[in-house]
Formats: sequence, structure tokens, C-alpha cells
Amino acid sequence: TPSTEKHQFQAETQQLLHIVAKSLYSDKEIFIRELISNANDALEKLRYVQLAAGGEQVEDDKREIYITVDDINKVLTIKDTGIGMTKGEAIDNLGTIARSGSKAFLEELKKEKGASDEGKIIGQFGVGFYSAFMVSNSVEVITRSYKKGEPGYRWTSDGSGSYEIETLLDDVERGTSIRCSLRDDCSEFSKEETVKQIVKKYSNFVSAPIYINDVRVNNLRALWMEDPKSIKEDEHTEFYRFVTGQYDKPRYTLQYKIDVPINLRALIYIPQYKPNIFDVTQESDVGVALYSRKVLIQSKANQLLPRWLRFVKGVVDSEDIPLNLSRELLQDSNLIRKIRLLLTQRIIRFLQEQSKKEKKKYQEFYEDYKLFFKEGIVRTSDQGEKEDIAKLLRFDSSREEQGQLISLEEYIDRMLPDQKHVYYLAGPSRELCENSPYYEAIKQKGYEVLFVYESHDEVLLMQLAEFDKKKLKSVESELETDTKKDDTILEGDTRSLSQDEANTLKQWLLKQFGDKLKNVKINTKLDQHPCIITTNEMGAVRHFLKTNLLQRD
Ligand code: ADP
Ligand code: MG
Repeated sequence: TPSTEKHQFQAETQQLLHIVAKSLYSDKEIFIRELISNANDALEKLRYVQLAAGGEQVEDDKREIYITVDDINKVLTIKDTGIGMTKGEAIDNLGTIARSGSKAFLEELKKEKGASDEGKIIGQFGVGFYSAFMVSNSVEVITRSYKKGEPGYRWTSDGSGSYEIETLLDDVERGTSIRCSLRDDCSEFSKEETVKQIVKKYSNFVSAPIYINDVRVNNLRALWMEDPKSIKEDEHTEFYRFVTGQYDKPRYTLQYKIDVPINLRALIYIPQYKPNIFDVTQESDVGVALYSRKVLIQSKANQLLPRWLRFVKGVVDSEDIPLNLSRELLQDSNLIRKIRLLLTQRIIRFLQEQSKKEKKKYQEFYEDYKLFFKEGIVRTSDQGEKEDIAKLLRFDSSREEQGQLISLEEYIDRMLPDQKHVYYLAGPSRELCENSPYYEAIKQKGYEVLFVYESHDEVLLMQLAEFDKKKLKSVESELETDTKKDDTILEGDTRSLSQDEANTLKQWLLKQFGDKLKNVKINTKLDQHPCIITTNEMGAVRHFLKTNLLQRD
């Protein structure tokens, strides 16, 4: 005789059920992701028991997920050919919230075989199933375990206080089918196109094939989990286009994998696309998506990278991130902070390596993307971070042909023994820099000078202030401190005015210009120029003055 039993959810379960259904997840649509993840886990478990039994125990080894929607009756069903549940398992796993049958399964597996799950089983918190009650009036689970001689069961609940379980007499296929009778305000989840988009968004990389009304929807490999050597260039291109929605190609590809201090798999791309000023100025989202065990958590994971790295695209996956974390919790998670630091440092190191490997390619990349680096330096108040980003900067230099850019590290490596600082000169062009009286003074000492031409460069270098314990100094400020030393002309210096003449000139100048002039100093350091005007004002202002004066010429 068929028997139907009525069970009460445990008291805590009742309370938790309410929390899950009402507030754990910020988006209702993720219930589909959760049910697919469970189906995938059931299929993975089947694979394990099959392996353990040498392939004998399981009659049919088809492992697939089928979704059907019925938008007349407002029903969504997710069915798998997985491991199924016995009556006891259904009571334990579906009747007890925060109890994960999957986690227990894994622990058992480890005990018996010492096997690891290779990150293939998704569930571990025991709350995902209940997200079905966010959208359903009632949920019906029909399941039959892979174990020989087990009958099928029907488990039903409206998610309030109790559930019913009934033994089924007719033949039931192995596996589990979950039927959600949708609430009126959630009827969109019985529309094929909507469901397809949601599956593609969250579950496109789940290993098991997923069919919606008999059409396969997920067909991309989760490249970030695979051996880099096994991935062909056109596979990267296809994947890149999926994650970016752009039609160009990756210019740089970085695959990153670590297990300590946290589990992290990342596939990072830098687009071939040359950003325009709009891309640079707008506050667009970070282009990296966050996954956990191939299941999407957040498509634009803004917390995962600093803002200046928003041009980077790709996927980051960490098993350590609980799938059911809400976005709000994600934001100030310590784990996310750790991931951000690790990723940022890895990307900077990668770009440095690339600049050594293929200098020309890096220079092209630098020209296209330098504004992002400069923004990063100016935005952060952390000196360590500033200097990290500054490793990526490149400069025109007095010692190189124009356009042969060098890094600050290269500069410091070849500083003269008596040289204490890194010198730069801001000017409108290379030619004007080279003919500048400020440059002349420092050139006599044989020091290398970095030439910068953009008005923001001077502000940037003043903000950076230091690199690798060396001060960054404008040659103009250097000259000022230098002239503080003396106000005299050496005796017998035939190139210059006499001391008397110089003093007379100085008095005349001070009188003529009145309070427009702070001071006049005499020295004999310049060869090619009779005098230099310096100002104490901020660099940008000085730069502005210079270009204006030039235009008046
Ligand atoms: P988690 O997936 O984190 O373990 P869930 O609340 O999503 O938690 O699911 C609870 C448990 O119910 C699972 O661990 C599993 O034992 C069982 N379960 C859920 N869906 C299925 C399914 N499709 N097939 C077999 N067992 C399932
Ligand atoms: Mg789950």
C-alpha cells in the first residue's frame, strides 16, 4: 500500500527556512543556479560511486540535467540522472536545513579512499535547496536512489511548517526531479528564454550537459580550471568573447593558479582593443567575474580588483568563497581583500615580465593603457601600492633616443655613484627639455634625466614622490637648493661678470621687479644660458606658465 507520512521541519529549520526564503539571497533567479548545482553534485556523486564499484553497480551511466518549463501552469522542473535519494536521505538532507548531504558524502569519500574531490562537488552549506521556496508555492521532489531495490519517493512541501513523503509504487527513473510550482509574482521563471539566460549566466560552465526543453544550453569549457598548455589560442578567443561581450582578441593572457594561502584560479585577459578617453574617464565596472567551483557568484565583481585595473577582463574562481554569500557580505569580506591583493600583485608582476620579454609589445600596451596606471598612483594613498604601480611606468630619458622608454628600475640601476635622487624634467617637448637651462645644470654632472611631456605627469611624479627609497626630484627644485649655497663669483672666472657687476645687476633687478621677485641669486653654474627663472609654485602651475609663455613667443 502506498504510504504518505507527514513530518514537521525541525524548529530551527522552520526559522532558517524563513530567513533563506526571504533574505539570504539578493536575487530570486539564483534558485535556478542552486538547483542546477545540486543536480550537478548528484551526477558527480554517481560518478564517484561508479568508480568505486568498478562501474558495475550503476545500470545506466548517462549523466545529464534536463530543465522543462511550462508557462501555462507556471511550473519549472529540474531533473537529473544522478545518485538519487533513499527515504532516509531525503528526510535527512531535505528535511534539515544547514545540513549538507554533499559535504557528508565528501567526508565519507575522504575517509574511505583518502580521495580528494578535485573541487568538483559544489554544495557544502546545506541551504541552496531552500532557495526554491523563494519563488514557489510548493516544491515536489521525486527521487530514486541508485541503490538496488530502492523504490521511488515523492517529497512535497509548501515551505511553511511541514513536508510529506510518500513511497511510489510505479517505476521511477534513477535520479531526482524537482518541480517548482511558481508563485504568481515569479511566473517569469516558467518562460523558456528567461530561464535560458539565467542558466547561461550562472551555470554555463557546469560540467554536466544542461538541456532546456531538449536543447543543450551550456557548451563552453571552464578554461580557467584547465591546464594552460591544453588551451588553444582560438579557444581563448572564444572564451574571451563570451566573458567580455567584445569582438576583439586578448592582447595578453594570464592564467593564475594557487592553493595557498587561499584557493584561487584565474584567467585574466587584457584586450587588444585600445581604450578611448571615454573608457578612461567613465566609472565603468571592473571586468572580472567571480565564480566558485565553476558557478557564477557575481558577474562584475567590483571588489575583486582595484579600480585602476578595470580594463582587465576574465574570470576568478575560488572554492573558498561560499556560494550563498550575499553581495552585501561579499563586499567587506576579508577573503575578497586577500584575493584583490594577490591578483593585483600578480598582474603587475606579469606585466613587468612581459615588458622584459617583448619590449616593443609592452610599449604599445603602455601607450594605450598608461592613463589607468597614472590614475592608480594618484588614487591610492598607500605608498607601497603607489610604487608597485609605478613599476609599470615608462619614461623618455636624456640617455636614450626619443621613444626608447625606460622604467624607474632601469634608471635607478644605472645611477652614478654620487647621485642621490631620480631627476625628471617636465616640458612641452623633447627638444625644449634638452635645451632647457634646468637640464643644462644637471647634465654637467652627468646625471640622467627623465623627460615628461604631459601636464599631469608632473603632478603624478610629485604624488609618487619616492621610488625604491630614492626621491623623485624635478631638476628645477634641485637647482633652487643648489643655488642656496653661494652668492659669489669665484675669482678669476673670466666667463662671467665681475662680483661688482653681478651685485649691481642683482640690485637693479630687485628694484625693477619689486615684489614680483622673491630673490635674485648669483652663481656661475650655467654655460649656455645667462639666467634661469624658477618658481616655488606647484608644478602644474609652472608647467602652465611655461607653455603659455611659449605660445606668446
Ligand atoms: P548543499 O548543496 O550545500 O549540500 P542544499 O540545500 O543545496 O545544500 O542541498 C541539501 C542536500 O540535499 C544536498 O547536500 C544533497 O544531499 C541533497 N540533494 C539536493 N538536491 C539533490 C539532487 N538533485 N539529487 C540528490 N541529492 C540532492
Ligand atoms: Mg546545493
